[in-house]
Amino acid sequence: MTKVAETRNELVQLRSDMVAEVGSGPIAVVMTMGALHAGHVELIRQARSRARAVMVTDFLNPLQFAAGEDLSKYPRTFDNDLTLCRQEGVDLLFAPTPEVVYPDGEPVVRVSSGPVGNLLEGDSRPGHFDGVVTVVAKMLHLTGAQLAYFGQKDAQQLWLIKQMVGDLDFSVDVIAVPTVRAPDGLALSSRNTYLSDVDRSCALTLYRALVSGADASPLGVEGVLRAATAVLESEPGVRLDYLELVDPETFEVVKPGYRGQALLLVAAFVGTTRLIDNVIIRIPATPDGA
Ligand code: AMP
Repeated sequence: MTKVAETRNELVQLRSDMVAEVGSGPIAVVMTMGALHAGHVELIRQARSRARAVMVTDFLNPLQFAAGEDLSKYPRTFDNDLTLCRQEGVDLLFAPTPEVVYPDGEPVVRVSSGPVGNLLEGDSRPGHFDGVVTVVAKMLHLTGAQLAYFGQKDAQQLWLIKQMVGDLDFSVDVIAVPTVRAPDGLALSSRNTYLSDVDRSCALTLYRALVSGADASPLGVEGVLRAATAVLESEPGVRLDYLELVDPETFEVVKPGYRGQALLLVAAFVGTTRLIDNVIIRIPATPDGA
């Protein structure tokens, strides 16, 4: 039975009850902003397969939204989230308000996401990643988890969290979970609920572009970008924010002659909804036409 903690005291109490019940062994956390879907469920399932107990955090973090973004209209489906957590055997759901997480108001001292935090998503959403890594640091402290599961869907966020954990010596294992997609390929996202039927078919263009890019990997970096761009430009309902190939180790944008594993990342607006997606590709050692 999933227990629900809303305050810090409840969290401390229910966490210690949980530890007493399950005995020793790693505790996992899955951090979410609520509006849970099958992508979140996959994180929970992977966490359950390895951990003694699983905690989920359900917190819409104001610190990672800039003015004018969708904080106020972000979907809130707490009853459904709790039902899903119960179905998935989550031990403890921590669902605090901003006042519980930030009792003194916005934190004066924050974690800096560094140079990579200002690229791509960070360039389009200034301050976003400082807000993300700050709340992740707090939630790691509050939950005391030894395992933390994050989705590859948010590849830059995942990279920054792994970097923070290493750079700042957090004692937690970060586990990446592949992107869960709808049968037609659309990456699941809480923001998909904003999409009308017409928007949704435009949104699928992002995935189609990534697949086209991946298929063009024998043509090298420029071939990949050209193929993906052509698909994105074929759909007038999609307004591109960025399309980039980065080195998965450093998150630096790769140069034309690059070979090896690369992350093809896209961000675009469909109507007023901003969506992101990515795939991992491999650019072979001797691209065609090189
Ligand atoms: P969010 O609630 O959107 O902040 O996401 C919470 C966690 O779920 C993050 O680690 C996301 O990367 C992950 N996540 C969201 N959507 C997906 C998906 N389609 N597949 C895998 N993980 C996801």
